Amino acid sequence: MQPRGPESILTSCRSLTRIRAFPTLRSRRAALALVIVAAFASGPADPAAAWSPATRKQMVEDAVRLVPPALQRLLKRYRRELARGMTLRIPEQEAGHFEHADGSGDLVETATDTMRAAWVALQTGEPLRQVVTRMGRVAHLVGDLDDPLAMSHEDPREPLYAQDYARYVERILPKVRLTLEHRPPQGIDTDSLRSWSRASADWSRDFYDPIGRSYWVDGRLVESRTFDERSIPFGIGSLTYARAVNDLALAWMTIWREGGGDASGALYDRLIEVRERRAGDPGASPATQP
Ligand SMILES: [Zn+2]
Repeated sequence: MQPRGPESILTSCRSLTRIRAFPTLRSRRAALALVIVAAFASGPADPAAAWSPATRKQMVEDAVRLVPPALQRLLKRYRRELARGMTLRIPEQEAGHFEHADGSGDLVETATDTMRAAWVALQTGEPLRQVVTRMGRVAHLVGDLDDPLAMSHEDPREPLYAQDYARYVERILPKVRLTLEHRPPQGIDTDSLRSWSRASADWSRDFYDPIGRSYWVDGRLVESRTFDERSIPFGIGSLTYARAVNDLALAWMTIWREGGGDASGALYDRLIEVRERRAGDPGASPATQP
């Protein structure tokens, strides 16, 4: 994938956020926050991650709202297991958290295996409590796939701004408009899950350099308080967070549906249907893909 300049990325961020906005998701977040326990808050942060524990918690809350009611009930019932799976370290396999441009890292394979294992667990009748723990691990790794800072380590100055960027993303969450794009894995087989995971990693890697460049103005390090809503970090933070929520909902729904769960009634499907109807209206502009 060709590296893109900040201007073109910002333009694409703007066009995407303009297309699809579901403000009702934001307005109901507060109510849902009461349902999902705050166990996420104490989770360990990745060494260089755009998602803070609070951001990950919000990501899960947003994705839970989108999935079929039967799955939603399960995830809420075992919310502690969900949180535990989400914050679980992958023992002695730290490479499972990143997929760097230089070929190091094992995130794509780890995410693939974890999604596949969750489906096998459902198929084989593993206790649902344990299945939900697996869903939590899926949530963590799918989040990692959409994290630009997990996709490269080439910028030696990254340690100077990575934590500030994670705090910045956390701060802008109330302003982020959730967008959906129906791009599920083609199947539950390993090849489909792997190519789906790799597509997300390749997509988010494009944003690594622009984040770093945004922190240097006239040769000096700046802080995120200088970023406004028209800034490149705002666009990238919004876009990557929205994609992570979208991908997480799709990953969970695929595992659930293919595992024989009742997949009816998902808010995700209703919102996508509405969007497709609008896109089909005469005069409506077609939705674009990144
Ligand atoms: Zn991670």
